[in-house]
Amino acid sequence: MSLLVVGSMAFDALETPFGKTDKIIGGAATYAALSASYFVNPVNVVSVVGGDFDQEHIQLMHKRGVNTDGVQVKENEKSFFWSGRYFNDMNSRETLVTELNVLANFDPVVPASYQGCEFLMLGNLAPQVQRTVIERLEQRPKLIIMDTMNFWMDIALEELKQTIALVDVLSINDEEARQLSSDYALAKAAKKIMAMGPKYLIIKKGEHGALLFHKDKVFFAPALPLEEVFDPTGAGDTFAGGFAGYLASTNNISFESMKRAVIHGSALASFCVEKFGTERIINLSQEEIQQRVQQFVNLVAFDTELA
Ligand code: AMP
Repeated sequence: MSLLVVGSMAFDALETPFGKTDKIIGGAATYAALSASYFVNPVNVVSVVGGDFDQEHIQLMHKRGVNTDGVQVKENEKSFFWSGRYFNDMNSRETLVTELNVLANFDPVVPASYQGCEFLMLGNLAPQVQRTVIERLEQRPKLIIMDTMNFWMDIALEELKQTIALVDVLSINDEEARQLSSDYALAKAAKKIMAMGPKYLIIKKGEHGALLFHKDKVFFAPALPLEEVFDPTGAGDTFAGGFAGYLASTNNISFESMKRAVIHGSALASFCVEKFGTERIINLSQEEIQQRVQQFVNLVAFDTELA
């Protein structure tokens, strides 16, 4: 099944308690496409970069089966730049800088070869651009998954709500769910958010795992207790890309399949945080991924029978 990933491609400068990076490659589409590429090929990307973007990294994405025909290069402009600093718990962070640059006037073009895609992953990006991509698809995909962040809730809430109304699955973190719903209790927040349109809602809770809501059902996936967490940047996008890629590979969008997709997305995200930027997810083996998935299964499997 074909997957289209839309989102930012970026330079990120990061600060964690373990160190600092200069501008490294990041962006929602970068992480999501790399992650999805372990499940489905090709992964078609729609995004925009400036003339300063690292072509070598694009080559690495090609090696993973990522198709960048839909990535516009604005030679005389600068790529999107984001800078963030993590607090000691590595679960919360503050944004230091967001320079939209090429994203400010991004008019997404969907190449003819991308038409007919069955799965659409709308990665973090201006909500009106996410909506434009839906409108530019001649046929509605079988499943539309969307990720976003507090930045857009702060500056473009109405546009964000219009896009949310069009998607099937929304993936956000706990803080964002609370902001969007104005409710503290996540179960209540989930009901309110699903009433805005999405039939499924994923609430990510960083090192405390993720919740998948659908109607009155809820599924919980833990995060793996890792010995080393270097950089959580991109974990949410990697999760969403793995989730979308897994569903596209199985072509099964039942709730049971979504549970498995949440576990596969969590497994990919657990790799992402082990190194800075995309370093850890650029070259994984299928064996490593399967072993990680098994670790998740072992983490929560128990016998209900009393001895
Ligand atoms: P995550 O850690 O999964 O929330 O994603 C971090 C990635 O999102 C970084 O690589 C950033 O480049 C990208 N990013 C940060 N802010 C935005 C934004 N406002 N729009 C699009 N992408 C963003």
